[in-house]
Amino acid sequence: MPHMLGMFFGVRQRSSMRSRPCRVFAHARSRFALAIMLPAALMTGPRPDAVADAAPEPIVFSTEFDSGGGVSVASRTETHFDLTLEDAQGYRPKGYLHFKLSGVKGRTVSFAFTNLNDSRMPSGFRLLYSETPLESLDYRRMDETVGDGFAQRFDADTVFIANYYPYPYAHTVRQVLRHREHPFATVRAIGESHEGRAMYALVLSDPAVDESQKRDVVFLTRQHPGETVGSYHMDGMIDYVLDVFEAADRAFDGDFRFHFLPHANPDGIYNGYHRFCAQGFDLNRRWASDSPVEIQNLKQYLLAHAPAAWRGIDLHATTNRGYDALIYYDDGIEAHQRVAENVYEHIRSLRGLRARPSSGSRFSRSFFHEALGGFMITTEKWLYAQTFDPDSLRAQGRHFLRDLIAPNG
Ligand SMILES: [Zn+2]
Repeated sequence: MPHMLGMFFGVRQRSSMRSRPCRVFAHARSRFALAIMLPAALMTGPRPDAVADAAPEPIVFSTEFDSGGGVSVASRTETHFDLTLEDAQGYRPKGYLHFKLSGVKGRTVSFAFTNLNDSRMPSGFRLLYSETPLESLDYRRMDETVGDGFAQRFDADTVFIANYYPYPYAHTVRQVLRHREHPFATVRAIGESHEGRAMYALVLSDPAVDESQKRDVVFLTRQHPGETVGSYHMDGMIDYVLDVFEAADRAFDGDFRFHFLPHANPDGIYNGYHRFCAQGFDLNRRWASDSPVEIQNLKQYLLAHAPAAWRGIDLHATTNRGYDALIYYDDGIEAHQRVAENVYEHIRSLRGLRARPSSGSRFSRSFFHEALGGFMITTEKWLYAQTFDPDSLRAQGRHFLRDLIAPNG
């Protein structure tokens, strides 16, 4: 990589564009688009005759898209970006990042983090990139670790770069709306976020069964928007429920109403925040209150549609390796002892996850027990593990729910 850059600059310095005013951007740090000019000839190999006349083409950096955020850049050269982890809401340690580069086709771009120590990102971690449109969510690991800087050659003109597998707000909406025509599905609008984004619930249940016979199971995710693996876990859980309902010989051992709440924090997801909502709150510390509005919407929904909920899973993830665990509400409640034991079984199925008790009224799992009477566990998957991908996360969600609902099935 250094050799290639040297070659590029050798060419550039022979061109008449040597003193183009790209230094205007040299220390610019902005959440908004940053254009870096580069002679087109430098991108397509040596064309000595054309260098002097080639129109410059920009590499454009942006986080201005659904789920973009968490990082700003400064350009050291035309093909090098210094990346600074930023959290628009001031959360530390720094976590989620997702940005877009345009104008990189056929070019090798180098990167270095300026403040890796503000995060828990290991130096051996490799970022993700996608060469397909955002809608496809097709990310793969880069070739090099973040360590002392890294480079990647891109084939597409526009690429998306992230550290955790992204799952934008539009996808969380599609995640539930795409099932709305299913005969077992009901989609409910449950309110709007502070910035006016719609919040939905997907309910899956067999309409042939008497409603009074059903137990409510609730799935919640993205209170902390950067913890994207929860959405992939939820994908697997939705698929599992539909598969069981659609298979005549695989009925659940019991009748359930499954409630999927896919985007507890729509604004945080859209704006690329790691932890907080648009008003700067940590939603999973707000369940003892009636604000912000996202918590109000969720609580009103649960009280109206699952007032005696049986089980809940709040899907999270963590940047702290030591926190990679399941967390369950524990207040010396005898009635929940068996569930807690089952939880340990699930932990084994999740390979290496530990379980820990945690109480207090601020959490979703607290509200779930204190107001609804049920038992909710919180999952915390370590985000910097590089052994998972969307398919394995979906499978994990699927298996987890299978064990929770039918431990012997
Ligand atoms: Zn969380």
